[in-house]
Amino acid sequence: TLPSSPIFESIARHDPKSPAIIHSASDRTFCYGSLLHDVAAAKDNLTALTNGKSLAGERIAFLAENGYDYVVTFLSILSHDAIALPLAHTHPNSELRYILSNSEAALFLSTGKFQDKAQEVVREGLDHHVRLEILSKIETGATSAENVRFSSTASTANGGFMLYTSGTTNRPKGVVLSIPTMTAQARSLIEAWEYTPRDRLLHVLPLHHIHGTINALYTPLMAGSAVEFAYPFNADTVWRRLALPFLPHSPPTKTPITFLTVVPTIYNRLLATHPTLSPEMQEATRTAITPTHMRLNISGSAALPTPTKQAWTELSGGNVLLERYGMTEVGMALSCGLAFEDRVDGSVGWPLPGVEIRLVESETGEVIRPGEEVGSDGKVREGEIQLRGPTIFKEYFRNPKATAEEFVDDTDGKGKWFKTGDVAARQVVPGAGQNDGQGWASGPMYFIRGRKSVDIIKTGGEKVSALEIERELLSLPQVAEAAVVGLPSEQWGQKVAAVVVLTPAGMTAGKGGKAWSVMDMRRALKDKLANYKIPQELKLVESIPRNAMGKINKKTLVKDVFG
Ligand code: ATP
Ligand code: MG
Repeated sequence: TLPSSPIFESIARHDPKSPAIIHSASDRTFCYGSLLHDVAAAKDNLTALTNGKSLAGERIAFLAENGYDYVVTFLSILSHDAIALPLAHTHPNSELRYILSNSEAALFLSTGKFQDKAQEVVREGLDHHVRLEILSKIETGATSAENVRFSSTASTANGGFMLYTSGTTNRPKGVVLSIPTMTAQARSLIEAWEYTPRDRLLHVLPLHHIHGTINALYTPLMAGSAVEFAYPFNADTVWRRLALPFLPHSPPTKTPITFLTVVPTIYNRLLATHPTLSPEMQEATRTAITPTHMRLNISGSAALPTPTKQAWTELSGGNVLLERYGMTEVGMALSCGLAFEDRVDGSVGWPLPGVEIRLVESETGEVIRPGEEVGSDGKVREGEIQLRGPTIFKEYFRNPKATAEEFVDDTDGKGKWFKTGDVAARQVVPGAGQNDGQGWASGPMYFIRGRKSVDIIKTGGEKVSALEIERELLSLPQVAEAAVVGLPSEQWGQKVAAVVVLTPAGMTAGKGGKAWSVMDMRRALKDKLANYKIPQELKLVESIPRNAMGKINKKTLVKDVFG
């Protein structure tokens, strides 16, 4: 028996013969019928393992390969009304120990492959006792789930998904998403992005962040789509897979990929490697990503550079990347629309269905009301994004201090707002909105200005968005990668500085064939940005370190580059 909760009932409702999970490398396919059967079987295995003791609300950590084992383990934990805590094998042991201790996990499951690592982690010592168990082989091969029953009395009120934030600004914080929260997030995305059983999503992201878990796994499973795993990301592998159905001698059984949701650095990698493919592959991959075959290409987790977006549009014959904004604590909050005109450069679109949003100006503490987007000085106002609604998490795990700091009350009695720490502006864009009959994609669009803590730079009394300057830098032919930061300055409070990786052209773009210099940069930006926004310093580096989700830790970067 499985509890009658939306995720299990959705899986049971989908065509049992329809593919749910595919291992891309081996082409092994697991259908919805076998998924339901195997989850029920794994639930019983877990009962046996813990001698029938209730696991309600317990954190159960697990280390499993991206693919069917992960999915079955995850869902079987949910079926026990417990909290599934996915760990990443790419994490150093110290990080795993931090998460296991911080979450006070009761049980730590690992697959054969990661057994040694799991044992090592536990042996090195934890602040509390965790029981280490090997995941018994997940049963496979069933094609139907006729014996699976549903119980309406089995609770799912204590269960959920525990994810840690990416740790871009600080130590990762534990976030528990309850089943109703995850369900609300999935339903919102299904309404907005229209996942269907005809979709086949290529999954190349880690499975311990919101992007890879909710957007690319939980939601498609709720919708009956197929999820094909090809992790870890490798540009050649992805291109090869995308090309397969379109190569002249390809087997007729290969299904085209219709859905790709990744981070900007991955689109950059794909764009950079495309010219190295054989002419035949180049043609097949171009066909694969045309709007005819690839229904949706989404980008998120970090700001999408406009040149990346433009290059993808060009390569794919018009498949404009759809940018969205979200975070671990809230799932997805803002998204551009399905109509191409609703994917405006630099914008993350509109609040998704069910998401309530407001912008709060930091200087005045005022909510920027509709129609008040432009200040009396003629400048577009900006404010912190605050969110409310069924898709928002309730609290940081056993961290009432952080929770109290990040939620604010409202006098309207409709509940508290979550302070995202991200700043945005809002503007009506002519021609965008209400192009696809989607009610939510209308009104003024949102533009992310960056994180309040590191990206909003105050220089000489002016506020500058690091993201805006990065956008301009990246559009220059000399710049391959850029991060803009604020440095302390006696004269200005803060001064704007740029850390840049040059393109080959940039290496010789300076005077007398020398590398691009701070003067060259200032000249190049002169007509694009107000003077106070143009970086006063330039540091050239060979690469800018990013975490698994393509994000830059700017505090560390400042320390490393400027000392
Ligand atoms: P930590 O909270 O531990 O410092 P993190 O904030 O990077 O790490 P996540 O929850 O994975 O952890 O990421 C959410 C953040 O990613 C958002 O708060 C926002 O700053 C950034 N982000 C997500 N999508 C976009 C986007 N489209 N454009 C710009 N920034 C984005
Ligand atoms: Mg964060």
